[in-house]
Amino acid sequence: MKNSVFNLDHQNSNIESKIVVSLERLSQAFRVLLWNESKAFSLSPIQIQVMIFLYTHSPEKRKVSYLAEEFNMTKSTISDTIKTLEQKLLIKKEFEQEDTRSYIIHLSKKGKQLTEKISFFSQQIQTPIDLMTSDDKENLLLSLLNIIKHLNTSGVISIQRMCYSCNFYSSDYRGKKHYCKLLKTKLADKELRVDCPEHITVEAV
Ligand code: SF4
Repeated sequence: MKNSVFNLDHQNSNIESKIVVSLERLSQAFRVLLWNESKAFSLSPIQIQVMIFLYTHSPEKRKVSYLAEEFNMTKSTISDTIKTLEQKLLIKKEFEQEDTRSYIIHLSKKGKQLTEKISFFSQQIQTPIDLMTSDDKENLLLSLLNIIKHLNTSGVISIQRMCYSCNFYSSDYRGKKHYCKLLKTKLADKELRVDCPEHITVEAV
């Protein structure tokens, strides 16, 4: 444990370890906020996450198999979540004509109204970010995108719809200037996307 980020002697003399442990604290904050929201609205944390995803993503992504990959869960767990949301009249299924076992999931009117309320659960994390300078925000975004990119390419997290993993993305030789070949425009650091509706994964093309 000598060189573990959790070893306090090592951690307190090592900025990289402090950053990793800080990210762990943030992940804990997300869990706590999600849990508080779930208690307030009698929903489980995954039900809240699925509803927000359904509200904000296109029909081809609103299927059990895609959701399972998105949330790193089994299809059976996601199917159970969808079943419960259906029993609560928060979603509707649209069965596909060519394969009646497959369906697209839509939020019902009641589901959309509820999602508009629960989608602010992470506000407390945004509050200190709002107070940062523009430069600090851009540096933080770039640093986080680089960490996410590494976690994605090393297989720790699956689906990513960010510029760095998109077929339409290109950059200069130093990786500093960014360009989107779909939008045919340069992207400033702050315009790099974390979740882009037009994203096409590099390997998929
Ligand atoms: S399509 Fe979206 S994700 Fe891809 S490079 Fe352009 S802005 Fe980024």
